[in-house]
Amino acid sequence: MNSLRQAAILAVGSELLTPSRVDTNSLFITEQLNLLGVDVAFKVIVGDDRGGLAHLFSTAFERVDLVVCSGGLGPTDDDVTREVVAEVLNRSLAEDESITARIRARFASRGMKMPEINRRQAMVPEGAIVLENPRGTAPGLWIEHADRLVLLLPGPPRELKPILSELVRGRLSARAGEAALVRKVIRITGRTESHTEEAVQPLYLEWARREVPVSATILAALGQIELHLSAKAGARDTAERAIDRAAEEVQRVLGLDVYSTDGRQLEEVLGDLLTRKGLHIAVAESCTGGLITSRLTDVPGSSRYVDQSVVAYSNEAKVALLNVARELIDEHGAVSDPVALAMADGIRSRSSADVGVGVTGIAGPSGGTAEKPVGTVVVAVVTADLSRSRVFRFVGEREQVKFQASQAGLDMVRRLLLEP
Ligand code: ATP
Ligand code: MG
Repeated sequence: MNSLRQAAILAVGSELLTPSRVDTNSLFITEQLNLLGVDVAFKVIVGDDRGGLAHLFSTAFERVDLVVCSGGLGPTDDDVTREVVAEVLNRSLAEDESITARIRARFASRGMKMPEINRRQAMVPEGAIVLENPRGTAPGLWIEHADRLVLLLPGPPRELKPILSELVRGRLSARAGEAALVRKVIRITGRTESHTEEAVQPLYLEWARREVPVSATILAALGQIELHLSAKAGARDTAERAIDRAAEEVQRVLGLDVYSTDGRQLEEVLGDLLTRKGLHIAVAESCTGGLITSRLTDVPGSSRYVDQSVVAYSNEAKVALLNVARELIDEHGAVSDPVALAMADGIRSRSSADVGVGVTGIAGPSGGTAEKPVGTVVVAVVTADLSRSRVFRFVGEREQVKFQASQAGLDMVRRLLLEP
């Protein structure tokens, strides 16, 4: 038997072809297979349709070593995966009495009699290995056929996940050989996609020539850039070493613009920083309408460092709640460095926080001027002995401007706290 290298995923279920359900199983399956160094060559979503499934399954089976099907193992007439796969592989189906007994017991434990149609879930293709499903009625199936492997897994994610994880720890890892594919996401702020690309380009060339090559994809997301690294090697720790080294090199080139290399989001990174320094934060928000505080408090344990926030949207509120001088607003406008700084000062002195943040801007679509167009946002950060303010010009719709403003607010605090 060859070791597994390439897989295909078939997500079966007509509901996955509607606008209301999305196939998430394939993401989990991909992640798990990658742990074993198995690449996913392609994936398909197909409805509960015998003809379509038979065609796509045969095609997949010809092209890869491993076909993973999710869904369509239920007891009803529209669940056809088991039957179609048995037919394509030319294997007969027979009832496995021990499965029927297990399903019967499952119903009995809830005081119910097993409906006869559930017997379908006990039908096993000749020669298949039954994979127990502790969280549901339909077991998974492992079918070896002509040097290839086929896995049939139940559709509900909470049933599929433990079955597949168990296989990856045991039976599948034995079939996958020693190879491992390792990934790492590096998150970056304060640079555009092309500036990031330009800076890391020389590294790409070097990585490609290494004994364990590292490949990279750059993705622009709202308010940040992500660099996705992957490395494949004969052994997991070799791949990990290669990718850790590459991540360090990126950090060396991009410096403080890299805010995480371990999957953490900006609010988590900032939370850790505040916790480590034993600092509290308070935020005065205008155009972000509370978004910064909402993101800060998305992190479990944020009560350790979030003190309080004020949403001061109108000029009157900025004066009344944050003690911003009326004249400052009249002279410079609400969206200005002096007002942002006064907001940060105001929230810092009305709270007992160490760090005060003020954010004011024009989210649009109206309210912009030639001098201060829509997307102009001013962020100020104040501590006992430092203060910074900065004007940003964001592009995008209202919601996107708000998110970028929140990102800038969190990021300015992070940078200030990292200063020597
Ligand atoms: P059951 O015995 O529950 O019928 P099944 O193997 O037949 O199991 P499906 O009927 O295809 O599975 O799916 C059951 C539920 O599992 C679906 O309603 C859907 O919510 C979820 N599900 C199925 N496939 C996927 C998928 N690819 N990604 C995420 N969720 C899925
Ligand atoms: Mg079903």
